[in-house]
Amino acid sequence: MPTIGETVSDLTLRFAAAGIDNPRLDARVLTAHVLDLPPEGLFSRAGDPFPTAQAAALDAVVARRLRREPVSRIRGFREFYGLDFQIGPATLDPRPDTETIVEAALRLRVPGKAAQILDLGTGSGCILLAILSAWPEARGVGIDLAADAVEVARGNANRLGLAQRATFVQGDWCEGLIGRFDVIVSNPPYIPDGDIPSLEPEVCDFEPPAALRGGKDGLDAYRALAPQFPARLEAGGTVLLEVGQGQAQDVAEILAAHELPHAAFYEDLGGVTRVVAASVRV
Ligand code: GLN
Repeated sequence: MPTIGETVSDLTLRFAAAGIDNPRLDARVLTAHVLDLPPEGLFSRAGDPFPTAQAAALDAVVARRLRREPVSRIRGFREFYGLDFQIGPATLDPRPDTETIVEAALRLRVPGKAAQILDLGTGSGCILLAILSAWPEARGVGIDLAADAVEVARGNANRLGLAQRATFVQGDWCEGLIGRFDVIVSNPPYIPDGDIPSLEPEVCDFEPPAALRGGKDGLDAYRALAPQFPARLEAGGTVLLEVGQGQAQDVAEILAAHELPHAAFYEDLGGVTRVVAASVRV
């Protein structure tokens, strides 16, 4: 029987041979997942024999990773903005880049002042819930076309203790929605359809297509959303949209054509302009 340490080393080699990006990290995280340990708990157990009873479970998980299923999908959750989010087949796997929109939203906070936030295409609810976690005076609504995503987002709100301030509903962007919001956020699908097959298999084979497909030039969702914003924004309210690399200027122009002149761009940690902010002309 190999030890836990030997199991991790063996998996690291297999993942590396399969061309997986962070083979040692994935080997550790998946071994810990099967053993129900925190990844840092493996070190003190490295010399213990790998339990025979868990061998089949490990094989199954390894086979999934070798088919390039992302680790976060295998474990069923992903950390985002320091919080744990459950993800599912209908939700995008939250990315660190998307924390840019959370940080941009939090700059709008006026301590002590109530605020209403709307998250369009909420998926796992990660953007709205991360904002609410750091903005105690805010309440929010998250909308997604996929009923299954709405379920996942509600579960996340409950687990994070934010259900009192977050409402999740199934819907087609703002259709049927009433009321106005101080901040509207969205990370809509923005990949040009023709680019999807060349994305890494973790994305093109496992992400829900509806969360990726942005139409021919990637901008369809922004064109659909922009005309809906003026009626849903409070006076002085702000729209914050995540964009793909190279799309910021085009998205700012789409917004400017719908009473939302460009106000600011925000970069992600990789230096890519990732968020376009715009406000109603007053
Ligand atoms: N708002 C969700 C997220 O950022 C889903 C985004 C999407 O499906 N395009 O993870």
